[in-house]
Amino acid sequence: MQVVYLIQRKRQRTGHEKGAAFACVRFEEGKELYDVVIIGCGVTGAAAAYELSKLQVSVMILEKENDVAMGTSRANSAIIHAGYDAPSGTLMARLNVEGNAMAEDLCKALDVPFKRIGSLVAAFDDYDEGVVRDLYERGIRNGVPGIRIIGPEETKKIEPNIAENVRCALYAPTAGIINPWEYTIALAETAVRNGAQLMRNAEVTAIARTQDGYCVTTTAGDVQAKYVVNAAGVFADKVHEMLLPPAFEIVPVRGEYDLLDRSEGTRCNTVVFQCPGPEGKGVLVSPTVHGNLIVGPSAEEIPDREDTATTAEVLAKVRERAKRAIPSVDLRQCIRNFAGVRANSRVDDFILLEEDGFVDLAGIKSPGLTAAPAIAKYAVELLRKAGLDAPEKEDFINERHVVHFAELDAEEQKALIEKNPAYGRVICRCNTVTEGEILDAIHSPIPPVSVDGIKRRCITGMGRCQGGFCGPRIVDILARELHTDPSKIVQDGTGSYILTGETKQGGERA
Ligand SMILES: Cc1cc2nc3c(=O)[nH]c(=O)nc-3n(C[C@H](O)[C@H](O)[C@H](O)COP(=O)(O)OP(=O)(O)OC[C@H]3O[C@@H](n4cnc5c(N)ncnc54)[C@H](O)[C@@H]3O)c2cc1C
Repeated sequence: MQVVYLIQRKRQRTGHEKGAAFACVRFEEGKELYDVVIIGCGVTGAAAAYELSKLQVSVMILEKENDVAMGTSRANSAIIHAGYDAPSGTLMARLNVEGNAMAEDLCKALDVPFKRIGSLVAAFDDYDEGVVRDLYERGIRNGVPGIRIIGPEETKKIEPNIAENVRCALYAPTAGIINPWEYTIALAETAVRNGAQLMRNAEVTAIARTQDGYCVTTTAGDVQAKYVVNAAGVFADKVHEMLLPPAFEIVPVRGEYDLLDRSEGTRCNTVVFQCPGPEGKGVLVSPTVHGNLIVGPSAEEIPDREDTATTAEVLAKVRERAKRAIPSVDLRQCIRNFAGVRANSRVDDFILLEEDGFVDLAGIKSPGLTAAPAIAKYAVELLRKAGLDAPEKEDFINERHVVHFAELDAEEQKALIEKNPAYGRVICRCNTVTEGEILDAIHSPIPPVSVDGIKRRCITGMGRCQGGFCGPRIVDILARELHTDPSKIVQDGTGSYILTGETKQGGERA
């Protein structure tokens, strides 16, 4: 076991992902010069890798955490925004609308759950009505398809639980809901399947110019590349300043949420926003793509870029605000609180810059999740302008299939269990996730190494018990499949150990 553990450590150090061993070894010998290195594997970095993996280029993605989607891309409202919020004429406005239009085909091809349920911005007083009119006009200027202002009757017809005093609403039929982790993982996995390499536990600490491009120093060793893409989220300014003079500042703004049980999942039919104010898009109430209800976020500037703590005081305000739009929402059905940190900047736009083959994809605040596929295309344009000259691959694989046992009919389930009995063992009872699905995830192109890594791929632990029942069983499965001791399995990030030792010595493990 000890030996295997050491091998795993080596795998992390050398950045093996499936099929990547050879190239990494060559790199260790100082021979590998990647065409493009991407720093950060949130949705922006993953989308850039996906887009680049369509081309005949070598790509290395560097991620400081032990998995992808560990930053802002895992804690947000999970809305594919329609595109009326961003100031007209900005890249943010353009890429939002483009990213929204791309989501459906992309999610279909990569088997990511996505529902185009539409959104409302509800107005409850004179001020709000003015905001709704402004948003409508901006939406028209931004090219948002199908938006219109609807009166109180139509609003109530769409949302029977909306507050009685609703005056009107901006209806945007193209808004949708998605699972942001699955989106990020699907993009990154597809990039890896198409030849991109991913090095986890590789925090970039320095960047230097070389004769051929750049040498990127990480905690897992140096990587050389002709071009660099900075997609480091809340740390994008720090990464930029490893090479270039300061050009922008990331201002971390935390948003806190309540996630409600599925019993509340049908409280709304659309994403219900209130009018945006200085604190951002305001508190929304929305179904999630997996059938829960999400309430939030707040907006609070914080000093620590990775501080995702939630606070009773802020959540109380979020809940009060949510009730203004949907008074009947039963907040006692909350099963989890969480927070995400926005990579805001002092500029009201994304910061998409290129200098000498170094591309910043920075200040990717909301609607960054929506815009990611379009940002990625823009990044490739920037790289091409900087000299990247690569034809498209003829054998690009633009498909991914994930088994969702609970969504199959009885005949399909039976056939699957006959083929592989692991699909007959339910591990997560809240969401009916089977051992077969967990094994699929563990043996996928980007194998998870933590209990939450399984959660991000299989939606285990996302029900009412929040992993109370399935958590220990997932620890055992991970330990068995990774040939390691259960005490080495972490909950989430590196070092987040669950088990500290055996309570009974000498006996057999139950
Ligand atoms: C509260 C909130 C609500 C939001 N709601 C929505 C929404 O509904 N719809 C929408 O479209 N957008 C939304 N957003 C915005 C969206 O979540 C972000 O724009 C998007 O997730 C940003 O992705 P990213 O890849 O740029 O950053 P991240 O996901 O943070 O990824 C950056 C990655 O870089 C890694 N990294 C950082 N430094 C280094 C380093 N030195 N070396 C190696 N790796 C490094 C990090 O570990 C991380 O994995 C919301 C954001 C927040 C916070």
